[in-house]
Amino acid sequence: MLSDLLKDKHCFKLVCGAGNENPVEVERLVALYSVAGANLFDLSANPEILEAAQRGLARSEINTDRYICVSIGLPGDPHVRKAAINNNCLKCKKCILSCPQQAISCVSGDILVDTKCCIGCGKCTSVCQHSAIDFVDKPFDITKLLPELISKYKIDCLELHPNIYGDDYVFDTWKYFNSIFNGLLSVCLDRSKLGNDKLVERIQKMRKINKLTEMIVQADGSPMSGGKDDYKTTLQAVATAEIVSDKIQDCYILVSGGTNSKTSELAKLCNVPVNGVAIGSFARKIVKDYISRDDFFENKAVFDKALYIAKKLVEQTFYYMN
Ligand code: SF4
Ligand code: SF4
Repeated sequence: MLSDLLKDKHCFKLVCGAGNENPVEVERLVALYSVAGANLFDLSANPEILEAAQRGLARSEINTDRYICVSIGLPGDPHVRKAAINNNCLKCKKCILSCPQQAISCVSGDILVDTKCCIGCGKCTSVCQHSAIDFVDKPFDITKLLPELISKYKIDCLELHPNIYGDDYVFDTWKYFNSIFNGLLSVCLDRSKLGNDKLVERIQKMRKINKLTEMIVQADGSPMSGGKDDYKTTLQAVATAEIVSDKIQDCYILVSGGTNSKTSELAKLCNVPVNGVAIGSFARKIVKDYISRDDFFENKAVFDKALYIAKKLVEQTFYYMN
């Protein structure tokens, strides 16, 4: 069971991306990282993506100890926003190279964002000198979408991304999660909008509302992208986990956001107790050259090279967690 993995500190969560709606990439990532040893897969709340993940798990031929987490972001949470080019764009193309998801392209002279691939990371805005990139939230009706997904697919964990100002909507949504889902619930928060005290206060209140005694807190670093593979990049994620572990009892802590191969090592060095590590951008980046090939599944040499890299990341993460 998923809670056993968490108790055993043996949870590697591959974050495909709450906003990643590219089924081809998700199927390949899930297949690859499942074989590599990842045991929890974080997916966008989208039937097409859940089906892609199921295909990926079937391809990996591993039938036990593989779990699915579906992430829902409230409007305003960066994990579910999408970049949109506005009229200030001077078509300098700087943003194209900055995008870790290859979501931006130039078509017939126009700069376009493929919203299926955009994960809302904000890297493009940091290189655009003309304020030409806005963010929009994808509209959806949670009360229609979630019951459909829960009834149709095997979902082991439901995760809320409520990194927004204002509490009412957050707690109402959390109550709704509790009313419709019987599995493990998870909340993913960072300190960027809330600060330390408000972060803790929000989680404590959610902890009280939660009907199960078990709950996951995903302590998110900021910025969300893993970027470089060094201690500094993952420092914010571990710092958030430390604040949560100091103040919140009886929850499983996953570290995420800016996580990389150094995350579990840094958590251990800092004596921060974590039940698992969630890695997204970095895990995708290191296998990108292989994943993006058309012959990824057919060419065993290509798959095996990607597997070697993915396995190293998973094994290194587990090594320092135990
Ligand atoms: S960096 Fe800004 S101005 Fe340049 S192409 Fe991208 S959106 Fe347009
Ligand atoms: S850089 Fe990030 S926010 Fe910008 S388009 Fe790419 S994925 Fe989306």
